[in-house]
Amino acid sequence: MSEDNAFENAKQQLENAAEFIDIEEDELEVLKKPKRVVEVNIPVKMDDGSVKNFKGYRVLYNDARGPGKGGIRFHPEESLDDVKALSAWMTWKCAVADLPYGGSKGGIVCDSREMSDREVEKLSREYIRRIYKYIGPDQDVPAPDVGTNQQIMGWMMDEYEKLVGKHKPGVITSKPVEIGGTPGRSESTGRGVAFMIREAAKRLNRDLEGMSLAVQGFGNVGKHLVKSAQEMDMDVVAVTDAGGGVYDSSGLDYKELKKSMEKHGTVAEAPYDSITNEELFALDVDVLSPAAIENVITEENADEIKADILAEAANGPVTPKADEILAEGDIFQIPDFLCNAGGVTGSYFEWVQNRYGYSWSMEEFREKLDKKLTKAFNEVYELHDQKGISMRDAAYSLSVKKVVKAMRLRGRL
Ligand code: GLU
Repeated sequence: MSEDNAFENAKQQLENAAEFIDIEEDELEVLKKPKRVVEVNIPVKMDDGSVKNFKGYRVLYNDARGPGKGGIRFHPEESLDDVKALSAWMTWKCAVADLPYGGSKGGIVCDSREMSDREVEKLSREYIRRIYKYIGPDQDVPAPDVGTNQQIMGWMMDEYEKLVGKHKPGVITSKPVEIGGTPGRSESTGRGVAFMIREAAKRLNRDLEGMSLAVQGFGNVGKHLVKSAQEMDMDVVAVTDAGGGVYDSSGLDYKELKKSMEKHGTVAEAPYDSITNEELFALDVDVLSPAAIENVITEENADEIKADILAEAANGPVTPKADEILAEGDIFQIPDFLCNAGGVTGSYFEWVQNRYGYSWSMEEFREKLDKKLTKAFNEVYELHDQKGISMRDAAYSLSVKKVVKAMRLRGRL
């Protein structure tokens, strides 16, 4: 089996965990398939007058525990199998964090960095025109993912509201704060990863202060992870992105990285030594955090990893083959859909506020986020510890059990 197909990997992970779950073979087969797949073609008139067709998807994987929930990714290499995998992971993520949601995901095959703002806005609105019957606050609730942002969520909400003729801010989360977003949501994935590392450190009897951390990616997740880690007195020693990377054994300053990113579109110009992605993965650090895209730790490089804790901030960064190799060492893994559950937990808080017309302070938001994520981490850790199974298998066991129970109670299984 090739390691590149994220959906095959997601099914393999489920299969591996099934051993520890009371589930029938035919029930397992149901869980390996999405409930609904929507595929659309989106013609957009480009600035140069030509018309370009874009392919878009929205996959509802499972909605037994509540409306679908999951982001929309804009990426030139996006594929239906990717979206399916991401929607499956959203299902397990919402269950492990105990949010009243199922799982879903969307994507458009496009390179938005090469497009003008007008083209991106048009594409976003046209996508919503094609999928609006399948989304809604009680049906399926999108959010950002790789390549999308708050502004795009704002356009999408606006288009949806025009189509249904009502204010419905709960249709989409991680909106700009001025139009129904909540302070705290944009940092919540990265901050949540830092909370997970803090909990792992406690369980492993390690002092958080001075722990060295290397982060792959300085997008929304990586950036806020670095910032939160620095606030918690960890030493962020290396950061890479698509344009290169930087290293300093005595610690990098978030402000310098941000400055370089704003000016040059990469952290690589910050005033530190250079480092490549490959070198970053092989660093002898306390914590390594892949915070970009899937399939970056594979059978090719898994044996080079020397970190003690692997905080999987991205979705699907470690392939099942790499997991087998990592299991031979004593690295402590915080599996992706637990590690990065802060994002969707923040989205849940926004959705609740939208539905009730509430507005929480940043302080209240952070406190609630911390509580929910700490509980999720500890539930997974305890099962891992009691049963002697991997953190990933423990996370799958807990979440799959919840989904299966909901399906059985509804009479769907
Ligand atoms: N795209 C994020 C994730 O993969 C957030 C999803 C959401 O907030 O719905 O978890």
